[in-house]
Amino acid sequence: MKEFDYVIIGGGCAGLSLAYELEINDKLKNKSLAIIENREKYERDKTWSFWKVFDHNFQDCVIKNWNNFTINTPDASRELKSEKFPYQSIDSGKFYNKVNAKLKSNKNINFFKTLNEINSSNSIIFNSINETPPDKSKLWQHFQGIEIETKKNIFDEEIFNLMDFNCDQKDAVHFFYTLPFSKNKALVETTWLSNLENNAYKDYDIQLENYIKNNLRIKEYKINYTEKGAIPLFYPSTNNNFINIGTVGEMTRLSTGYTFLNIQEHSKYIRENLENISDKEKFKLNNKYIFLDKIFLKVVKNNPEKMPSIFFNLFKVKADAFIRFMSNKSNLVDDLSIVIKMPKFTFLKALF
Ligand SMILES: Cc1cc2nc3c(=O)[nH]c(=O)nc-3n(C[C@H](O)[C@H](O)[C@H](O)COP(=O)(O)OP(=O)(O)OC[C@H]3O[C@@H](n4cnc5c(N)ncnc54)[C@H](O)[C@@H]3O)c2cc1C
Repeated sequence: MKEFDYVIIGGGCAGLSLAYELEINDKLKNKSLAIIENREKYERDKTWSFWKVFDHNFQDCVIKNWNNFTINTPDASRELKSEKFPYQSIDSGKFYNKVNAKLKSNKNINFFKTLNEINSSNSIIFNSINETPPDKSKLWQHFQGIEIETKKNIFDEEIFNLMDFNCDQKDAVHFFYTLPFSKNKALVETTWLSNLENNAYKDYDIQLENYIKNNLRIKEYKINYTEKGAIPLFYPSTNNNFINIGTVGEMTRLSTGYTFLNIQEHSKYIRENLENISDKEKFKLNNKYIFLDKIFLKVVKNNPEKMPSIFFNLFKVKADAFIRFMSNKSNLVDDLSIVIKMPKFTFLKALF
């Protein structure tokens, strides 16, 4: 069986981002890489969105940028604007095509379906899959999105809606998220923060149909594409000795589910320290965010009914401070401006 210097288990967002980062920086000229990926084919399956707080390798996979975004609750709505940090959406189909075309050009890179097909006993292994069963009793961000197309031009393509709480909360946290890619095309997503055990939250098709009809007031549309997912809002336990990357590498921001840009930072860290990566300190999100997010999630769990107004208050800070905080790039002034907007008693109770 063939031996490889490096093995990446899981050729999804984190695995391919890392392989691409290594390839474009000439780290695989004289080294071999095996990517273990069991999917039959690569096609669009996710829309990765984030505020662009730094440059990344996938600008040409961006399908839309926005500077303006809104939040709606039954009582009020608010709009924020940032010229400095646009919100971007990446089509995963474009990402897979770009990365795979690049990787194909290097004979040192090979794909396999399982780890058993290679000899990895002396390899440095990066892992992005989790084979332990999902803990359904914990908090998840679970959702379904559909890209709809209308005959008439009805969307304002300059503004996306980050959260619309004008919907049934059913003892959990529930909101809709709308990304207008053009005047007649948008991704509409129903999103829940809850454990995965309660099936009452999972009739996504009906939720989307009602929302599009009653809230967006769209009667006729066709569905171009559907995506569905569940992001753990806790760090999944892994029992392996690999260098974990992606979701299992704890790259998810637990309060928001944002992971894409953290994966890019982690890939860069690995590339910069590749020669001694096994001995290097584990790459982690800043402890400040891990600590604050844990408190935030306790509040979510214990006070779901308060979350629409808590999220709304977050929107009362300056747009750039809000974005830096959501993207792990906040300074002390940003942090303080966020913290003072939170209900003190509720958060102190969660803290203690
Ligand atoms: C639908 C969806 C939308 C998301 N949207 C956003 C967003 O807008 N912004 C953001 O920041 N984050 C988002 N996320 C969160 C996060 O960015 C993604 O989940 C991202 O894909 C995580 O990358 P990953 O490499 O850890 O996992 P994945 O991309 O899921 O990659 C894991 C890979 O491993 C493969 N695999 C699994 N099991 C095996 C096995 N046994 N053997 C071989 N291969 C295997 C899978 O086929 C997959 O290709 C989203 C997540 C989902 C599910």
